Parts: sequence; C-alpha cells; structure tokens
Amino acid sequence: MKKLIALCAVLMLTACGQQADTQSSAPSETETAPNASASEPQTVVVYSSRQPHLIEPLFERFTEETGIRVEFSNDNEAALIERLAAEDDNTPADVLITVDAGNLWQAGERGLLQPIDSAALNGSVPASLRGTDNEWFGLSLRARSMVYHPDRVDPAELSTYEDLADPRWEGRLCLRTSRKVYNQSLVAMLIEHHGTERTEEIVSGWVSNLATTPFSSDTLLIEAVEAGQCDVGIVNTYYLGRKMADDENYPVILFWANQDSTGVHVNVSGAGVTTHAPNPELGQTLIEWLASDTAQGEFAERNLEFPVNPTVEAQGLVRKWGAFEQDQTPLSIAGQRQAEAVRLMDRVGYR
Ligand code: FE
Repeated sequence: MKKLIALCAVLMLTACGQQADTQSSAPSETETAPNASASEPQTVVVYSSRQPHLIEPLFERFTEETGIRVEFSNDNEAALIERLAAEDDNTPADVLITVDAGNLWQAGERGLLQPIDSAALNGSVPASLRGTDNEWFGLSLRARSMVYHPDRVDPAELSTYEDLADPRWEGRLCLRTSRKVYNQSLVAMLIEHHGTERTEEIVSGWVSNLATTPFSSDTLLIEAVEAGQCDVGIVNTYYLGRKMADDENYPVILFWANQDSTGVHVNVSGAGVTTHAPNPELGQTLIEWLASDTAQGEFAERNLEFPVNPTVEAQGLVRKWGAFEQDQTPLSIAGQRQAEAVRLMDRVGYR
C-alpha cells in the first residue's frame, strides 16, 4: 500500500494533473518511494455532482486506507450524465456519484451504469435504496419533510403532505419549484401511493394554498417561513440543519410528515459503477468503502444527512430530530414515475 501512495505522489505532479477540472485526493504524508516499479499505481476515476467539500475529505481517507488514488471531476448531474453518454466506451470514469434517485435512475435507464453483485453493498445498503438491478446504491439518506413557524402553527395541526392540500392552509404554504427533481420524486411517490387522480387533487390543493410563487431553493423557502411570508413548507432537512448549525435558536422547526401513514419521503445521494469503467473493480471497492461502517457516519454528517447503512447511527445535530418512520417504497419508483409526476404538476399549474 505504501508503495502505491508514494508513487501517486510522484505521478500527481505529471500525468495526474492534466485536466483542469479534475482533482485528486492527495496522499496524506510524504514517504520515500521504495521500489516503485514493483506495481502499477491504482487510480479510480469519479464523476461527481456532490459538492467537493462534502466528498473530497472522504476520497482522501479512502486513499490513505487503501492506497488507491481517486481522481474526480465535479459538475452538475445533467452535464455528467451527458458526458458519460457522449464518451461511451471511451469514458475514463469508473464511478458516477450524484444526488436523487431520479438522476441515478436516469443514468441507469440510459445504460450508463452496470449491475454490481456485492455482498458488502447488499449488506450495507437497504434494498429500497438501490437500483432495481443493483446498478446504483444510495450512500446518504435525505429526508424531505415539513417545516413550520411555531408562532403561527401549532404542530398538532400538522400531519401529512396530503393534508397541506386542505383549504385551512390557504395562503400559508410555501413550495420550491416543481422543476427541482426533489419535488418530482416526492410527487412520483404520491402517485405510487394514491394513483394519478388523487395525487392531482393533492397537488392542485397545494397550488391553491400557496402563499407566494414557488422558490428556486429550499433555503429561500425556509427563510420565507422565518420571515412570516408563509407558515409551513416542504424541504430537505439538511437545509434546515445548515440554518441550525449557524444559529441553534433558529426559529423554524422540523416536523416529521406522515408518521402514521406512509412515512417521510426519503431520497438518497448515491453512486454506481459506469458501464464502460476502465477499472470496474476499483469503482466497486470505492463504493463499498463509502457504504461501509468506516465511512458512512462522515459521509452523512458532512451534509447533515442520515447514513443509509442501518448499523451506523446519525451523528451531530441531526440526532436532535430523533428517529422517524421513512417511506420504504423502492426509490427506483421515483425514477419510473418521474415523467408522470412532471406532467401532473404541469397540468395543475404547479410551476
Ligand atoms: Fe440539495
């Protein structure tokens, strides 16, 4: 292992630094290179849409622990998926890391990811948080639930996503735009639970209850609840977590939705090995490591999310929110029903 790390340090100065937008996890310490010719350096290439500060420290730890270098390119998920498709069997990428099952599903549908048969991954990642053919695996769990302002809402009034369609919320609800995949996945799951007709009533009710035009981000939505523009909204919990990390008395409060029915809508950030990976076994090794007990706590905590690995406990401030019932519906459904969800939201005028 030490030989590989040392060799990488040398290579990074030359071949490894060629692409401007490609970054490497640096070996942590300088060591004298012993017989470097004894083995080839191993490098796994990753396309990642996860913010670099959330993932890079983990790549560095992976390199320290395994001797395998990580070279990664960061871009948004649409660009990375197009790039993989265009590169086809010439892609340098072994692994795609992105957020939302809707995006992972799309990459799988386009034939860009390959099924992985891994006892380690099957043990670390619950089946509902993987692709149907094990072509992608959730690595952190994100919950999309409700937030409210305690001055204007009694939590006893809150119950379900469906209930936010009730006329008593008229002029009190804030939503993020329907163009965000997070809401497409949420509505896809509502269709799965209730069918199209009932879901159309629910989403149409939301639109009637809107206090203002949908927001471009969950953070703006939370700030609107704080400012009194609306009383309640639907967001991914880590956005509230960021506010709470800055101000422990932040006045907007989390409510776990649907605890007596379908459970909170959850999603993942996740990864898959690319179909034309030059080094699929290294790609698999990296994903197995990210899903392992060793890495899961940090992977989730850096973004105030939850581990997917059920043997690892949530860490940091998200523990304050306590345990919650989650929707156990396979996340691949969010992808399968995505187009339907987009059409439905369009029909009822949810922009
Ligand atoms: Fe996000």
